[in-house]
Amino acid sequence: MRPTETMEPKTTPKKFIKNPIKGTKFTIAISSAKGGVGKSTFATNLALALKNIGCKVGLLDADIYGPSLPKLFSINEKPKSEEGKLIPINKYGIQCMSIGFLTDEQTPMIWRGPMVTSAIKTFTQKVDWKDLDFIIVDMPPGTGDTQLTFAQEVKVDGAIIVSTPQEIALQDVIRGIKMFDKLGVQIDGLVDNMSYFIGDDKKKYPIFGEGGVKKTAEKFNKKFLGEIPIDPDVGRYGDKGKPIVESNNSHPVTKIYLDFASKIKSNYGL
Ligand code: ADP
Repeated sequence: MRPTETMEPKTTPKKFIKNPIKGTKFTIAISSAKGGVGKSTFATNLALALKNIGCKVGLLDADIYGPSLPKLFSINEKPKSEEGKLIPINKYGIQCMSIGFLTDEQTPMIWRGPMVTSAIKTFTQKVDWKDLDFIIVDMPPGTGDTQLTFAQEVKVDGAIIVSTPQEIALQDVIRGIKMFDKLGVQIDGLVDNMSYFIGDDKKKYPIFGEGGVKKTAEKFNKKFLGEIPIDPDVGRYGDKGKPIVESNNSHPVTKIYLDFASKIKSNYGL
């Protein structure tokens, strides 16, 4: 049996008791099948774009093993706790929470499944999120323990799968699609990140191949939300701790994110 076939939903999705995150209208999971495809970059910039079009947004970095939010948002403080609840850190107008706020950056997170489950419960039930339209959740890559626990324990309203267009990444995207289908989580769409590079000659160069994410979306009857080019500015602003959407509101990549945000806002009737 090929690995992709093991995730095939053979029965109707199993029902789990899923608790909604208090303090938000909607929870959207940003997922990728592989690490390094730009999932955290997407999650942070999407959150900022939603804020820029008038939504109240929280950002939950659920990537327990490799939190990125402290660096991408340049947050060095620790969250306070009041009456047994953690108070999110407000940065760039977004309510933020990450395991990285509570641990030392250099300490590896060597955690077993039950510890991961308990951390996820803390972040979804014991954080004082306030009056939000959306919580954007930066999920860990893959279809592993953390990912499954989150999808089973928390009422996730939609998932967005981010991928690069290489064949090898697409295999994993299919696994991600099947996992969400099996868990009964609606997939809001697929995003093709680092789709092409625009040269000095203004031509598009599809470095990792062309159209693969869109074709995968069509094949599995999912929405294709769009493409984001490879642009060194994206990495540069991320490394400075102020993502591109917050740093440069007229940049072409920012405009792409604002377009994603408008689509998502209207999908949820806001
Ligand atoms: P993941 O969360 O999937 O592991 P990251 O968001 O950390 O991936 O991104 C991996 C690297 O790719 C980072 O250095 C980031 O700045 C860079 N990156 C992401 N998207 C783009 C893009 N569209 N153009 C250029 N660099 C990008």
